[in-house]
Amino acid sequence: MGIEEKLPSGVMLTTLEQLAGWARKSSVWPATFGLACCAMELMAVGGPRHDLARFGMERASATPRQADLMIVAGRVSQKMAPVLRQIYDQMAAPKWVISMGVCASSGGMFNNYAIVQGVDHIVPVDIYLPGCPPRPEMLLDAIVKLHDKIQNSKLGAHRQAEIEEREAAGLRRLPLVDVGTPAREVST
Ligand code: SF4
Repeated sequence: MGIEEKLPSGVMLTTLEQLAGWARKSSVWPATFGLACCAMELMAVGGPRHDLARFGMERASATPRQADLMIVAGRVSQKMAPVLRQIYDQMAAPKWVISMGVCASSGGMFNNYAIVQGVDHIVPVDIYLPGCPPRPEMLLDAIVKLHDKIQNSKLGAHRQAEIEEREAAGLRRLPLVDVGTPAREVST
């Protein structure tokens, strides 16, 4: 693809967005990327009980060049971080990332120097999945939500407008901490 990025906004681009979104969400190929115990639940999703093939996603790719979804299943060690990034860089674009479990999302119980405290320090994450470990049903739910996101992705002029709107909303956002509030007096 690429020509859709040049199209002006309008009915044609909207129709093309829907078509491209449907085609992309119906042909997601996950990369095999189990790092720890969460990978057991990830593998269970491919079994007959949960049957990932219903979404056309049963083909787990052993080469990143034929994959566009990375499911980070487990804690990411400092040693593994550059490897993970290299695999992400080699994946076909557009590509998506699901952070599966608390360890991948925030380091979880491994609050130490050997573990990356959140895989979003290494790659952009589209969906965060809580739990230790998340059940296969939770992963399926995350996949369905990712499909919705892919289906509603913008292209060309619409994407540019969306980026500008998000930037403007970010600048309008108020700080969460009121730095002007005086410290509470402590009675003795
Ligand atoms: S979230 Fe729990 S199951 Fe998943 S890798 Fe961490 S410790 Fe293992």
